[in-house]
Amino acid sequence: MDRLKAAAQAHNVALDDDDGQFALAMDAADPLGHLRDEFEIPTVGQVTGIAGEQSDALCTYLCGNSLGLLPKRSRRILNEEMDEWAAKGVVGHHRHSKGRPWISYRKLIVEKMAPMFGASPIEIGVMNTLTVNIHLMLAAFYKPTATRNKILIESKAFPSDHYAVESQIQWHNLPADALLLAEPRAGELALRTSDILDLIEQQGSEIAVVMLSGVQYYTGQVFDMETITAAAQAKGCVVGWDLAHAAGNVPLKLHDWNVDFACWCTYKYMNSGPGGISGFFVHDRYAQDTELARLTGWWAHDEETRFEMSNRFVPNRGAAGFEISNTPILTAATLLGSLEVFEQASKESLQEKSLLLTTYLEYLLHRYASQHIRIITPSDSRGAQLSLLFATDKFDAVFKALMSAGVICDERKPNCIRIAPVPLYNTFADVKRCADIIRSTLASR
Ligand SMILES: *Cc1c(COP(=O)(O)O)cnc(C)c1O
Repeated sequence: MDRLKAAAQAHNVALDDDDGQFALAMDAADPLGHLRDEFEIPTVGQVTGIAGEQSDALCTYLCGNSLGLLPKRSRRILNEEMDEWAAKGVVGHHRHSKGRPWISYRKLIVEKMAPMFGASPIEIGVMNTLTVNIHLMLAAFYKPTATRNKILIESKAFPSDHYAVESQIQWHNLPADALLLAEPRAGELALRTSDILDLIEQQGSEIAVVMLSGVQYYTGQVFDMETITAAAQAKGCVVGWDLAHAAGNVPLKLHDWNVDFACWCTYKYMNSGPGGISGFFVHDRYAQDTELARLTGWWAHDEETRFEMSNRFVPNRGAAGFEISNTPILTAATLLGSLEVFEQASKESLQEKSLLLTTYLEYLLHRYASQHIRIITPSDSRGAQLSLLFATDKFDAVFKALMSAGVICDERKPNCIRIAPVPLYNTFADVKRCADIIRSTLASR
């Protein structure tokens, strides 16, 4: 809140006037404002399917937590790869008119992705989609023994993570109670760090892997990854993080936090497109660990001798030693376009704008709608998302009003709306517009 007040003062505008002067001033002075032009922003008509007065206006897209918008560079690079394929066929693996031979495409990706995760390129890999990578990481890092065989996740983890972990446990023929769930306290939705630490303290010696999410998809809570990692490792657990909602959203220092492994999808805040290729992290402590039994394939084999086709497996150093298949160039291409956009902004400036956008949204919702909305995202540990619980009799009307005005956000039945103002392409005016529609819909009921 102090940050927001300071910004208002700096621009000499009142926060609490209702005509949006604050939003206008912030957008006019936004040092990241030009990055919005890097994206294709759909029109209201396109997203609502309704022809009307407003249909040519740009929509208000507040759903980057679910699927990021298309970077124009991604379309261009994808088309270039198609042209390359058309013009060269297999030769494109080695000779490429844009200097991106497919055989080493992964390097382009991991070098750009590494700084976003506080990692060095050797610690980053790119393959598959998220849930598949969770399985592959667990295949390497979940080595249950008679006394240590549990996996700790959140009780309300994203269902795919829950199913993946549950099925790993079944697949190892272990009893169902090897799945250990961290529950929030009665009446609370966010998990307290101290409760997670207590659970680890009490049961840590039986836990093989702690695998929580960096940012909880439903509540938007950011977990204290550094503290939890250290506490769990002190008890001898392996620590992995699901960064689906953290990647491209909040500051990460995976190497310094000594995280064992992490996985993330790239189609949410990282804008790689529907079903986009995933990333993963393996700490460089394991870079030379050829003993770590993993599920593997030819691409994980030492690239120097890969084409000798010897059938004697020697892994690549680092995360590349976990990449099973050759890189899917068409999905890597769209990710590459987005990474080029991220490169144009410092992590600090993105974080600063993100906090201001979300705090502005919180401020407006408190001002306009506090009696009808409970914000469940903790104000002191969050990224670009606010999760709102509505009184159930208001929920449908509000969500419908937002969508039909071309304000795209995301509903979780029965009464949760998640709103994510993304610093790369959203504006303060987007936030104001969303809050205005919520306000007028509630007022008209
Ligand atoms: C989005 C998301 C997924 C999606 O999994 P896919 O394998 O990419 O379909 C899984 N887990 C979490 C926590 C997510 O947020």
